[in-house]
Amino acid sequence: MIICTRRLEFDSAHRVMNHESKCKMLHGHRYVVEASFTAKELDSLGRIVDFGLIREILGSWIDKNLDHTTILWDKDRELGEKISNITGQKIYYMKYNPTAENIAKHLLEDICPTLFSSYPIECVNIKVYETPNCFAQISSKNNGFQSDSPVDE
Ligand SMILES: [Zn+2]
Repeated sequence: MIICTRRLEFDSAHRVMNHESKCKMLHGHRYVVEASFTAKELDSLGRIVDFGLIREILGSWIDKNLDHTTILWDKDRELGEKISNITGQKIYYMKYNPTAENIAKHLLEDICPTLFSSYPIECVNIKVYETPNCFAQISSKNNGFQSDSPVDE
């Protein structure tokens, strides 16, 4: 399988509710997302998709929804409301704790399938770096497009 990967960066605050130590504190990261895509076949120029299209679609979504926001679990609304009341900052609520793992899962399973539904590509892997040394990664269960023909086990 050929995949192409676009790296995107954004700045956000978050906290991990019930964390055993300092990650329960509100803090920030320069997040790096590496989003990988595949297609059934390469286009006439030999690409899965133009890297610029990933930047335009997923990058714009990240800029609008995650960049310079605070990412919180929706159980953390009391904190979110205080922050937005004081700073006017947008809060991005997730249905689970905003760990790198859960942000990666959210992008792979919820956001990319919607954003790219009209394109002949599929997001198959997301990496989310919280620091240069720490990242979480999730791969599509389908491992790319389902084959039309039966696959030998
Ligand atoms: Zn953190």
